[in-house]
Amino acid sequence: MPHDLVLAGCALDGEKADLGLAGGRIARIAPPETLTGAEVLRCDGLLVLPGLVDGHIHLDKTYLGLPWRPHRPDATVAGRIEAEKAERRAIAEPMALRARRLVEQVVARGTTALRTHVDVDTEVGLAGLHALLALRAEVAHLCDIQIVAFPQSGVVSHPGAAGLLEEAIRAGADVMGGLDPAGIDEDIEGQLGIVFGIAERQGVGLDIHLHDPGELGAYELRRIAARTRAAGMQGRVAVSHAYALAMVEEATLARTAAALAEAGVAVMTNGPGPEPIMPVKRLVAEGVAVFVGSDNIRDAWSPYGNGDMLERARLVGYRAALLTDAELRLGLDLVTAASARVMGRESGIAEGAPADLVLVRAAHGPEAVAGAPPRELVVKAGRVVARAGRLV
Ligand SMILES: [Zn+2]
Repeated sequence: MPHDLVLAGCALDGEKADLGLAGGRIARIAPPETLTGAEVLRCDGLLVLPGLVDGHIHLDKTYLGLPWRPHRPDATVAGRIEAEKAERRAIAEPMALRARRLVEQVVARGTTALRTHVDVDTEVGLAGLHALLALRAEVAHLCDIQIVAFPQSGVVSHPGAAGLLEEAIRAGADVMGGLDPAGIDEDIEGQLGIVFGIAERQGVGLDIHLHDPGELGAYELRRIAARTRAAGMQGRVAVSHAYALAMVEEATLARTAAALAEAGVAVMTNGPGPEPIMPVKRLVAEGVAVFVGSDNIRDAWSPYGNGDMLERARLVGYRAALLTDAELRLGLDLVTAASARVMGRESGIAEGAPADLVLVRAAHGPEAVAGAPPRELVVKAGRVVARAGRLV
């Protein structure tokens, strides 16, 4: 079978092999130096990993490419939301340009699929969504983008938000969002009723930002799990951050983890700096689907971040004490297959799998997570899209 591209003499976790790519997929895995194709790339033992998947990013918020903007902290979430709106009004450059820079940067670092949240409220309306829908089409050859309609200004507490959010889904957003039903809306069942209602009516998944702490946040997690089961949405609901999982006593943690596992509700961590990190190993052992994303990159919320998901895996692994080889493999899974599953995507190195690949100089997955080496080659749908950290 003629291959479009052969990655010759690469390494698959200890074994040398040739990968024959055709039609955007891995058509053949064979012993080294045996396959032929229209193009043959000698890989000199580079390790092949599945394309990295960023499960949570905010393309519309980044200031990437603008002159450095000093971070201005605010004690409250509401204060930060207002500060962000003021900063956004002061920037003349169209958001789509900055979002595109960020996409190009993350692709150069090996991300081949991502889930972005996009602000939807009465000030920005659906403008951000339409800009990202256009960008998604422009960069389809580089990266697959899934879009979450994100109520940054609240749902119940922000008149007009509910209608706009439903309109956003009809306009092409893939997933319904949510934000701190207690902390922002002070109406847990009110917000959950609206966002689950839209998700059910429109037949989409749900991904809720939840920063609410302690017992309150854990209670909200169990309410989300209960509503997920009632709606028959097992496997289609995620909660991002879920800081409460790091704050509650053992009995509450056990009860909440069991509820999440039973309802197939996934939880996302970015290895947060000043916040406690969820007990990743414990949650995975309890059967909870944990995945990883960058979250904010150089924006009103954080001056940090670069969208490098191997570096993110290292950060999460460092904070969550992923130390043995098996645990480091879990770290790699969090930024590949686990995030892909939440997005409803395939991931892996196998015949028939999508040819979304990243090649690094490392012996195996654990070493790649521990060291986060530079990306030598990035392949999207069977085509080389970046080499030595730059788009081609
Ligand atoms: Zn976020």
